[in-house]
Amino acid sequence: MLRLSGSAFITGAGSGIGRGVARAFARYGVNRLALLDQKPDALRETCQQIQRESPQTKTEIIPADVCNEASIQRAVSQATNLFDRIDYGVNCAGIGPSPKMTHEMTLEDWQRVIDVNLTGVWICQKHLLRQMLNQEHRSNREERGVIINIASMYGLVSAPGSMPIAPYTASKHGVMGLTKMDAKAYAKRGIRINAICPGYIVTPLISGAIQSGLMDEEFERTPVGRAGTVEEIADSIAFLASPLSSFMHGTGLTIDGAYSI
Ligand code: NAP
Repeated sequence: MLRLSGSAFITGAGSGIGRGVARAFARYGVNRLALLDQKPDALRETCQQIQRESPQTKTEIIPADVCNEASIQRAVSQATNLFDRIDYGVNCAGIGPSPKMTHEMTLEDWQRVIDVNLTGVWICQKHLLRQMLNQEHRSNREERGVIINIASMYGLVSAPGSMPIAPYTASKHGVMGLTKMDAKAYAKRGIRINAICPGYIVTPLISGAIQSGLMDEEFERTPVGRAGTVEEIADSIAFLASPLSSFMHGTGLTIDGAYSI
């Protein structure tokens, strides 16, 4: 079985993929977890699940907004003070789009999605990098730190024209650009950065669309004929965090049931 160790800083940990990553990391051996999200109650629920499943894991709840740089700087310091170092940073916090054609969209519609999904990832990555640059390398095939950003298959290709989600698609292409640029810029300094590009995954982000039947056609269009699960994404993130992927830098690992090929 894949084994991880050390400490992690995970955003969006109160729901969906972020919560799944926190639970998977605890199972795989990460025994210190700093969990960040906007809602403290949601984070407490994540912690309770981890305490039931992996009682040896130490968790710290950090309610914060990824768009607020001062809060993220404090959050990274808080995690470092408690855990000495941050071995893995996973940027999962994100919001979904409300489909609207560009000519019908307001600047606020655009800005909100870009702020959370792209600028929020940049802010977290910046402060994780500052901390990781101060850490020693761990061991052979293990770096000073590893960062994994959650992009989307819509960070690689566009959504269908019938689903006009330009700000979301642009934000996720931006996450891929940021991941590639900084993967190159920090590789020699011992920090490994990658992204994952999920297809449709059953989480609260798309549960409304699933219930209203909006996703039926999209699931049909997915060659495996179903949406992915949080566990399938969390396991891929654990692989990218582990030394098994030590020569992977700047990739966007696509996990989409063959939708985008
Ligand atoms: P989710 O269940 O809605 O989880 C996202 C979490 O991020 C929520 O707890 C949300 O809190 C939090 N969040 C939103 N804005 C934040 C902010 N400004 N500061 C801190 N936390 C914030 O959605 P998910 O599906 O797990 O999505 C996780 C990531 O995967 C996102 O980046 C999403 O774009 C990406 N993704 C998802 C899918 C999919 O099909 N589900 C596919 C491809 C990529 P609130 O609930 O309070 O907003």
